Formats: sequence, structure tokens, C-alpha cells
Amino acid sequence: MIDFELLPATEQGRQMVRALAEGVFRPVSRYYDDHEHDKVQQLYDVVERMGLKTFKQGSGSKPDADGKRTSEPNVSLVVNMEELSWGDVGIMLAFPVRGLGNSAIDAVATKEQKARFGAKFTAMAITEPGAGSDTAAITTTAKLDPETNEWILNGEKIFVTSGFHSEAVVVWATLNKSKGRAAIKSFVVEKGTPGITVTKLEHKLGIRASDTASIVLEDCRIPYDNILGSPEVAERREGLGGAMATFDATRPGVAAMAIGVARASLEFTKEKLEAEGYSFPYDVSLHKLNYVQKTMMEMEANLEVARLLNWRAASMLDDKLRNSLEASIAKAKAGRAATLVTQKCVELLGPLGYSREWLAEKWMRDSKITDIFEGTGQIQMLVIARNILGFSRDMLK
Ligand SMILES: Cc1cc2nc3c(=O)[nH]c(=O)nc-3n(C[C@H](O)[C@H](O)[C@H](O)COP(=O)(O)OP(=O)(O)OC[C@H]3O[C@@H](n4cnc5c(N)ncnc54)[C@H](O)[C@@H]3O)c2cc1C
Repeated sequence: MIDFELLPATEQGRQMVRALAEGVFRPVSRYYDDHEHDKVQQLYDVVERMGLKTFKQGSGSKPDADGKRTSEPNVSLVVNMEELSWGDVGIMLAFPVRGLGNSAIDAVATKEQKARFGAKFTAMAITEPGAGSDTAAITTTAKLDPETNEWILNGEKIFVTSGFHSEAVVVWATLNKSKGRAAIKSFVVEKGTPGITVTKLEHKLGIRASDTASIVLEDCRIPYDNILGSPEVAERREGLGGAMATFDATRPGVAAMAIGVARASLEFTKEKLEAEGYSFPYDVSLHKLNYVQKTMMEMEANLEVARLLNWRAASMLDDKLRNSLEASIAKAKAGRAATLVTQKCVELLGPLGYSREWLAEKWMRDSKITDIFEGTGQIQMLVIARNILGFSRDMLK
């Protein structure tokens, strides 16, 4: 039976993180929306004050003698990410202890690599000018120099979240373009390594507290041991295993961001409507509700569905179960729900919802990215359809 009661430690953690979101993130939310690319100094102060070094995903949980779960690191992570994103999703992404690359490290790194890179704020660079949704089309190369036993990386990466402020970047590159997906591997490149340069910062619609960078790699040499996963190129097996394992872990995180920002918008809207005299009775039949009441309740229900789907996807990771289908379902649902909810809230709030007086317009802008990065809504639908129908990539493109 699925039990979605959070463990006491998860609930306790949520309260702490909620205090951080409310006390530190939310008060500076508008400032960093206005001051795009500024370093969010408050976050660095918090990390130092609280002694936070890592904000781990965790690899799963061991059951006790009765078969009950004793910890739930992945459920706890999505619960916390929802809270932080409720405070501000852009600031959450800029939190200098955990980037998307950290999930790649958690998912596929060896013990030694986890010890070396686990405490570094790490971005993830897959997308290129000619490769977005089709990750297998990447052209960045990694070649081994047998004399020095170093990898030499060459290529261009774009739209790298935290590519500027992070301490390291997980870079996806091919060992041999003619071998397709099987030859695509990921490499940890520490900032300051000669040959890695940030060439551009994007100006964006939303999540403006989070930097989004273009990165060029020119004869960038990194130690042999910085490759994540095996350097072998399997002849027949599908490659990109590390990338896909990363997505299985990061997609629930993005879904949690979507739910957090949408919940912020919905709670705010409800408060304002209640101040206008609206009430939200849950015990009357549907036909007795007016449009505003019905719309608000439908949105609440949609977010609850998204949250439960997401807790299921994260919970499967805690049980060390493969969750590709469930992670894509959760992300597809949450990204879409958040986009619709935040837009509808602006509508229900009237002109002030559209004004910069309130944060509702910002939440609407912030939410859109959750339906884009880590695989767009359309790509999630493809993954879901392939999984359910048992179709290969070539059969369903
Ligand atoms: C703010 C921001 C932050 C980002 N952060 C990162 C990051 O940290 N690391 C990183 O590597 N990338 C990052 N990205 C890139 C992001 O992951 C890609 O933009 C996304 O995967 C889509 O790729 P694309 O932009 O090339 O669009 P395309 O692949 O060109 O897609 C364009 C449109 O076509 C649709 N489409 C594409 N293929 C299909 C298909 N087969 N069937 C149906 N529809 C399809 C897509 O859904 C989309 O709507 C970021 C992007 C943004 C905007």
C-alpha cells in the first residue's frame, strides 16, 4: 500500500525550510527579479551561517525490521524544493549548494567522485545551439590524450542554469559521434580550468535571480577520473544512461518547483479573494458554487494531484525503483498545471494581478520554465507514450 504520510523528520525539515523561504527568499524576491544576474548574497550568508554544505538527493532508504521506511531523502528533497520555490523559484535555483549537476553526480558518480565533487555547486550543460530536446544530437567532443591521460573537451553549451555562479559544470560530450547515443558521456569540469569560458548571460522572462549562461569549451583538459560513469562505448546498448538516470532524479525536482510557485500564487489569490468577501465552502455541491469558487477549487485539486504524482515519483527513487515513467508524468502534470494556475490567478486578481505591485505577475512569468527545462511538456508526453505503449525512440519520435 502507498503511504503518503511524511516521516516526522521530513515534516520537521519542511518547517525549517519553510521558515527560510518565508524569512529569506520571499522578502528579496522582487529585488532579484529587478536586478537580474546579481549574486543573491543572502543565500551565501545563509549557507555560511547554517553551515550548509550539501543538500543531498540521497540514493534511497533502508527499511527497518518491520519493512517500514526509516528515511526518505528523495521525498524530503521534493518537499523542501516545493517550499523553497514557494519562497522564490529563481532564488531557489541560485542556492549555492545544489545545482542540476549535483543530481547528475548523485545519480551516477562513484564514491570517490561524490567525495570530490559532492559539496560543489554544480550546473549541468547538455543543450547546444543545435541540440535541445534531441539530446542525442550534441556535438561537443571529448577525446582522451593517452600521453597525459586527460580528456580534452571542445564545444559550445547554451542555456546553462547557474553556469556563471556555479563552482563546476557537468558537461555532456560525445566520445565518438558515429557511435550515437552510446558514446555520449558526462564529465565534471571545475570552474577555473583553462579552456572553459562563460561567454554570455541570458536576459529572461522569469527566474531572473537564476543566471543562465552560454559556455565555450576550447581544448579544455580535465583529469581522466572526471568522467561520470563508464568510459566504455557499448556496441548495441542505448547510451545516455547517465543522462536519463539524471532526468529520472531531476524531473521530480522541477515538478516540485512548479508546484511551489503555483501554490504561492494560489494561496495569495485566495487570501485576496477572501478579503473581498469570497468564501470557499468544500461541502456544497458543485452547481451551488460560483465561477470564482469553482475555478479556485479546481486549481487546488490540480496542484494536489500534481503533488501526489510527484511524491510517488520521488518515493520510487527512495525505494530504488526505476521511475522514468512516473517522473515524466509528474513533470508533465506539474509544469502544465503551474503555467495554467499562475495565469488564471493573474486573471482572477484583475488589474492588480497584472501590476508589479504584487508578485502574481512574476509567478506567472516564473512558472513557464518548469514546462520547458529538463524536457518540455511535449517531450514528457513522448516519454510517457513510449513507456506505456512499449515503443522505442525510433518508433515514436
Ligand atoms: C531558462 C532556461 C534554463 C535552462 N537550463 C538548462 C540547463 O541547466 N542545462 C541544459 O542543458 N539546458 C538548459 N536549458 C535548455 C532546455 O532544457 C531546452 O531549452 C529544452 O530542452 C528545449 O530544447 P530547445 O530549446 O532546443 O527546443 P527544441 O527542442 O527546438 O523544441 C522547440 C519546441 O518543439 C517541441 N518539440 C521538440 N521536439 C519535439 C517532438 N519530437 N515532438 C513534439 N514536440 C517537439 C518542444 O517541446 C518545444 O516546444 C534551459 C533553458 C532555459 C530557457
